[in-house]
Amino acid sequence: MIELRGICKSFGKNLVLDGVDLTVGAHGVVGLIGPSGSGKSTLLRCINLLETVDAGTVSVGGVELTAGGTDADKVRQRIGIVFQSFNLFPHLSILDNITLAPVRVKGIARSVAEVAARELLDRFGLLNKATSYPDRLSGGQQQRVAIIRALAMEPEVMLFDEVTSALDPELVGEVLSTVRELAASGMTLVLATHEMGFCRDVADSVAFLHGGRIVEQGPPAQLFGAPTQPETQQFLRRVIEAGRL
Ligand code: ADP
Ligand code: MG
Repeated sequence: MIELRGICKSFGKNLVLDGVDLTVGAHGVVGLIGPSGSGKSTLLRCINLLETVDAGTVSVGGVELTAGGTDADKVRQRIGIVFQSFNLFPHLSILDNITLAPVRVKGIARSVAEVAARELLDRFGLLNKATSYPDRLSGGQQQRVAIIRALAMEPEVMLFDEVTSALDPELVGEVLSTVRELAASGMTLVLATHEMGFCRDVADSVAFLHGGRIVEQGPPAQLFGAPTQPETQQFLRRVIEAGRL
């Protein structure tokens, strides 16, 4: 479903991605871990063309996005992305936040978009918030709405960039449950996360980024339980020392 080949990306003289290869099968769930600054966010942003790549190819669903003449807006309809900050529109109700893009970008009739939005809200236990405004919701609820808003575009894959990082600890669980449900439903996911325990549970493959490269990748039990590369071992030792695994 997602195929990255030899992705290179620099910001000025800072080489951030140094030849990254990554394959994510349909219904696959890949976790991206690594130290802060290792390029996780940049890699996710390259997948849906929020960043241009300097070299390499990005393909989604068999279509190369990095070939010339690609309509980046069309691509982004196929690839949902949710960030650490929820960025809901404060002046719009939850329902209007969710239907905005389907109505404006896809041209779906408002009544149809609202039915779909209510179905999604119901599925994730937030139907009673449909007419509320974002400031009446907890951070966890707002982040779940941000996920629903991305799902309302019916993407083929979803990218999650540290979606629990801005949340109070007691609100992390409900967002992780939402991600877990999506994974179980067969959505193809790539998630950058420092929730190692969650990553181990939900991902079927975990890639460790270091110095702009995927230094090691494997099933969670192997990567967390028996890492082979010194950089991975050192990173996981620090994670364990910090009590995060
Ligand atoms: P991570 O998500 O793993 O913490 P990032 O992808 O955010 O890493 O960042 C990787 C490196 O790229 C960092 O050194 C960061 O400062 C740099 N970087 C990211 N985005 C930009 C940008 N828009 N302009 C300049 N440097 C950037
Ligand atoms: Mg990041």
